[in-house]
Amino acid sequence: MSFSFEYVRPNSNSQARLGKITTPHGVIETPAFIFCATKAAIKGLSPLQMQEAGTQIILSNTYHLMLQPGSEIVAHHGGLHKFMGWSGPMLTDSGGFQIFSLGHGSVAQEIKGRHQGNEPKKKSLLKITEEGAIFKSYLDGSKHLLTPEKSIQIQRDLGADLIVVLDECTPFSVDKAYTFRSMEMSHRWAKRSLAEFERHNNGTQSLYGIIQGGVYEDLRQQSCDFVNSQNFFGHAVGGSLGASKEQMAEVVSFTVPKLAPERPIHLLGIGGIADIIKGVEAGIDTFDCVHPTRLARHGGALVMQGDRGRDHINLRNSRFLRDQKPLDPGCDCSTCKTFSRSYIHHLLKAQEVLAISLITMHNVRFMNRLLESIRVAIKSGTLSGLHKAA
Ligand SMILES: [Zn+2]
Repeated sequence: MSFSFEYVRPNSNSQARLGKITTPHGVIETPAFIFCATKAAIKGLSPLQMQEAGTQIILSNTYHLMLQPGSEIVAHHGGLHKFMGWSGPMLTDSGGFQIFSLGHGSVAQEIKGRHQGNEPKKKSLLKITEEGAIFKSYLDGSKHLLTPEKSIQIQRDLGADLIVVLDECTPFSVDKAYTFRSMEMSHRWAKRSLAEFERHNNGTQSLYGIIQGGVYEDLRQQSCDFVNSQNFFGHAVGGSLGASKEQMAEVVSFTVPKLAPERPIHLLGIGGIADIIKGVEAGIDTFDCVHPTRLARHGGALVMQGDRGRDHINLRNSRFLRDQKPLDPGCDCSTCKTFSRSYIHHLLKAQEVLAISLITMHNVRFMNRLLESIRVAIKSGTLSGLHKAA
């Protein structure tokens, strides 16, 4: 099975589309959510459990795997699928996001513009040049150079179905002139990535280009024109999406229509319920975010109507001490079918690792059910109703 993408837009009033991304490891029904198996593992769940929760596709991070265990070890196993025991579709990122988000001295959120970077972090990015990015390993301080070619070579070793070009992830705080210069360099890097990809392309992987340009519509137009002109399989919307959720929705909605419709469109690093529904309405096909699994590790279980307008309930809260209801009475996951909020509250208090697995199972199933209901709503023209429920 090789690669293809097909889609329909059932409602002429909406950009929302139903699609199928075919890969050598199976078909992804879109819109779909991609779960982060950062270091070749979903924290708290096995690949079999991910499959049982209806997961279509996972992603792993080049940055982490190039440092530990090293891509040659993964290649020695015949790639990530065999190494980690996941037989479905998989994506790897370029490694750039981690290098640049750590390098700009703030958390990843700052790149997306949702955080102003007040928390000082150890800078790992040493230098950005035309050649690539020089950074220090977070594990042992050793120096590494990641070039567009190197990123593709590592991703070839890792062997995911969908791979991504290296780009400079510009933070929210930079001005338009910087965003423009950075975008131009990312375009040159994208051409080098594509050339390296095509040198060894044997049909087992497909490459995504990334759209930069920050919050500036004219720059986004230039970046969309660029990626459309290159031989990419798919496109990912990257870079800063603004300072607020409203601005993010605006940037996404003016960017997506500028992209070649015959290619799948991914929105990088966005995973909030309302953001996903808005993204789907704008024509996005796939999303990824650490949110569902990270939230679980903090005791948060995803629900449509959480506490104080949030997307989750916090099981650490003492009000769950005697609560015999499941995490989400409407959920069909193995956690909700078996365990009470009271029991999970106890596990968290007692610091039992099972708590994390159980909540992660629920959150993964929740996201897969959410995307299933979005696909059904697109088909029946009721997506706006789903929007109100979130
Ligand atoms: Zn559940």
